[in-house]
Amino acid sequence: MKLEKAFAEDIELCITAQEADRHFEKGSIKSKFNFQCPGDKCDAPVTCANLDRPKNKRKRDPYYKVVGEHGPRCDLARDIKYQKNGSRTSSDIYSDSDEYLDDAFRLNLQPPSTRRPEGSGAAIGKDGVKGRARQKSGTESGRRKTQPTKTLSSLIDSYLNKESIIVQLPQTGVIDINDLFYEVNGQDVGELEDDFRVYWGKAWFNKKENGYSIVFEQNLTLGETTRRPTTYMPIDALGSSGFGRFNLSALEKIADNKPKMVFLLSETGPRVKNGYINIWCEGPEYLDYRLIDK
Ligand SMILES: [Zn+2]
Repeated sequence: MKLEKAFAEDIELCITAQEADRHFEKGSIKSKFNFQCPGDKCDAPVTCANLDRPKNKRKRDPYYKVVGEHGPRCDLARDIKYQKNGSRTSSDIYSDSDEYLDDAFRLNLQPPSTRRPEGSGAAIGKDGVKGRARQKSGTESGRRKTQPTKTLSSLIDSYLNKESIIVQLPQTGVIDINDLFYEVNGQDVGELEDDFRVYWGKAWFNKKENGYSIVFEQNLTLGETTRRPTTYMPIDALGSSGFGRFNLSALEKIADNKPKMVFLLSETGPRVKNGYINIWCEGPEYLDYRLIDK
């Protein structure tokens, strides 16, 4: 669900991203991180993506992205949940404005329970490519052609196998798989654009009261802050996800104090707030890991 307005902390008003752009230019809004969910009784953090990016370097105009948990009584979160349950395809990140491309893979972020289109007989092959997508295009008379897709897990395999693959991102076009994957390795990420990237590196899963925090081994630098970036997976996000790799007993085993090679897909770049660097994890389909051979 697109967030039309967000609460701008610096001016204490709910405004559109376009208005935020003007305020940022004037200096009355100081940072793309100074936004919150406009919902009642909610202070979920919001990033105004690309706000700090020079206009000539933007592939996409600034837009709001919620990058944290909504409060328990947030009315907006209720609407979003309702929308998600109501439509099978609402979690598809692509829209009609994304051009059909023969030679690029799209990200498949549908939860497994909804992944198989009804009655199409499409099966996810070993390589994660939908069966129907392999068929010659043009046979579906008048219907939109289906572009090949890859789940995060399948993309990770391709990356580790050094396959040369082009990935199509929503709204911003294609990217080489080697540019999509971004190793967390001490860089300054101040110039990094807000777009889908797979942040990866050695990291630990730590059990917390209501979820798991994942801490990378290496630092990132953002502004004045140099820190090991973290992400968080709340238990209730796992509930009905159908993800075997992140059911509760699997997670108990993963949080065993041994580092894993973690891969985290995120639409916005790392966020710095109160001295911490955080990368937002939208849900279990955005996170995967591989065991490290000793
Ligand atoms: Zn909210």
